[in-house]
Amino acid sequence: MELKNKTIIVTGASSGIGAAAAVVLARAGANLVLGARRAEELAAIAKRACDAAGRAVTLPGDVTEPGYAEALVALATAEFGGLDGAFNNAGIVGDLLSMPEMPIENWNQVIATNLTSAFFAAKAQIPALVARGGGALVFTSSFVGVSNGGLAGMGAYAASKAGLVGLVKSLASDHAAAGVRANALLPGGTVTPAGGEGNPEILEFVAGLHPMKRMAAASEIAEAAMFLLSERSSFMTGAAMLVDGGISVRLT
Ligand code: NAP
Repeated sequence: MELKNKTIIVTGASSGIGAAAAVVLARAGANLVLGARRAEELAAIAKRACDAAGRAVTLPGDVTEPGYAEALVALATAEFGGLDGAFNNAGIVGDLLSMPEMPIENWNQVIATNLTSAFFAAKAQIPALVARGGGALVFTSSFVGVSNGGLAGMGAYAASKAGLVGLVKSLASDHAAAGVRANALLPGGTVTPAGGEGNPEILEFVAGLHPMKRMAAASEIAEAAMFLLSERSSFMTGAAMLVDGGISVRLT
């Protein structure tokens, strides 16, 4: 019950890592505000979170819309009286294309979903955390934000995920005195719909890139998010924490 009476926003909560994190945080007693576009999937995850000892409300919406981050904070305040943390996790891979082939629309969509959304989130969430005396922000980056390893067509995705690593360093520096910690979580290949779930060929290829010769379960990444959101990581801020089965050791 280490997160009892703590209120945490989780985006990308309808699937994969975000859904697993909702359950892990709920088991620790958190009040959750869950976001993603798909309302039915969100409602199902909220039910699982409530069954796991937490309290959860949902607000379907799009993280590329500036007002959505504000609405999630407003819901946290209205429903639970304030905000203690956020797992800003929603993201897309986009089309894997080299730069000459990449349509501007794909570039813009990937940057908007993965990076500009983090600006909207920080802008809306930090004043709420400061009002509470501090809190923790976690942004889901990727091992691809600090390494490449010959994966083709990752330019937009890599730029967006590397951008998050830079962003958390500034957030950490600017807001530490107010008690706000900001860290990036960099998963390796993880079995989720975006990570190739249901496609054995992709799963085998990605597993083989890791020294551990396997991909992460979403729950393993969720446990790392729990660590960064809780007081267990009380002296960590501005970090880019790899949870990647060693893939970046091979690639850098
Ligand atoms: P996933 O199962 O596809 O989940 C992605 C989540 O993001 C979904 O809940 C999706 O919900 C939400 N989302 C996407 N675009 C959105 C938008 N415009 N507005 C609101 N929500 C949006 O993928 P995942 O693997 O769990 O990915 C979670 C995060 O981990 C992402 O940031 C991803 O880049 C990162 N990551 C994944 C891996 C991997 O191998 N799986 C590795 C490193 C990093 P809706 O579709 O309902 O909106």
